[in-house]
Amino acid sequence: MINMYYEQESDLSYLRGRQLAVLGYGSQGHAHALNLHESGLEVCVGLREGSKSRGAAEKAGLAVKTVAEASAWAHVIMVLLPDQHQKAVYDQDIAPHLKSGNTLAFAHGFNIHYGQIAPPEDINVMMIAPKSPGHLVRRTYQEGQGVPCLVAVHQDPAGNTMQLALAWAKGIGGAKAGVIETNFKDETETDLFGEQAVLCGGSEELIRAGFETLVEAGYPPELAYFECLHELKLIVDLYYEGGLARMNYSVSDTAEYGGMTRGSRIITKQTRQEMKQILKEVQEGSFAREWIRENEAGQPELERLRKEYQNSQIEKVGARLRKMMSWLPGGSGNVPA
Ligand code: NAD
Ligand code: MG
Repeated sequence: MINMYYEQESDLSYLRGRQLAVLGYGSQGHAHALNLHESGLEVCVGLREGSKSRGAAEKAGLAVKTVAEASAWAHVIMVLLPDQHQKAVYDQDIAPHLKSGNTLAFAHGFNIHYGQIAPPEDINVMMIAPKSPGHLVRRTYQEGQGVPCLVAVHQDPAGNTMQLALAWAKGIGGAKAGVIETNFKDETETDLFGEQAVLCGGSEELIRAGFETLVEAGYPPELAYFECLHELKLIVDLYYEGGLARMNYSVSDTAEYGGMTRGSRIITKQTRQEMKQILKEVQEGSFAREWIRENEAGQPELERLRKEYQNSQIEKVGARLRKMMSWLPGGSGNVPA
């Protein structure tokens, strides 16, 4: 069984009197910095020279320093930079300023688990990973709620690093929703597998294949878009509220029977075999090595794939249809340019 913690098991006083640096002011960074600040803790934001976020952070009442200055100033340093840039920033601007007894924190385990960043033994290393995009970490905090978080400790020379992680989780609002104890290996491997097999890769290919099957059979692409992409949200909302059973309870008997008798013809034994292979590549580190190489080369394959995916028919039909969906955030459902 996993350990879960809530408000009463987490104590902000472990972070009181300590200087906390949040490096980066993106999705997670702005949420951690603002929530901790409003929880009464001493926070500064570490940004690149000339960063466009400086104005926004200062306007919100936060102290801003460079990444190197913030790392030198802080007792606890939370690295909320894009995972692919963390190693370079760590080597250049964080590591030279670490002092014995400092704590380094992450919101995802990739760089520690795959050995890209290897802090000295006298540095505490922890993770607080909200299971949600940063804007929700912020919004739920403002509403007096929070999002569930994972916490983990990789190195613990101080002996109380888990208390620090729980305090951080509480400071950003996570203890209201529940904090789950894990380790860097499990968080990293399940996160990568989940996004590849189910959340991003698997669901996107399923949508694409369904859409193209209908269009190739001569049905209007607009109908195919609604059926295979748009409606998926309604189904996922039911999963989210009440698990698989709630979806089956809510749909018609026809849909339930058709789904139960046909679903395993789509996700076949071979699909499951391939999932195992994808998990193995994550566990053995071959995916991580491929992704690190891709970044070292400047992301050429990612760029090529983005173009290919953006030019597909489902995206063109969708862009047109979403212009008519006045209820979408921003009034139109297109990805910001
Ligand atoms: P992001 O891209 O939204 O923000 C990154 C920030 O770092 C930006 O402010 C950017 O300007 C800054 N930055 C980029 N390169 C930099 C550099 N070389 N030097 C200094 N600053 C630089 O990133 P994010 O999504 O907030 O992710 C941060 C961490 O949180 C990652 O480890 C990620 O895995 C983790 N995480 C993200 C989410 C999510 O939903 N976004 C959820 C859980 C965990
Ligand atoms: Mg994830």
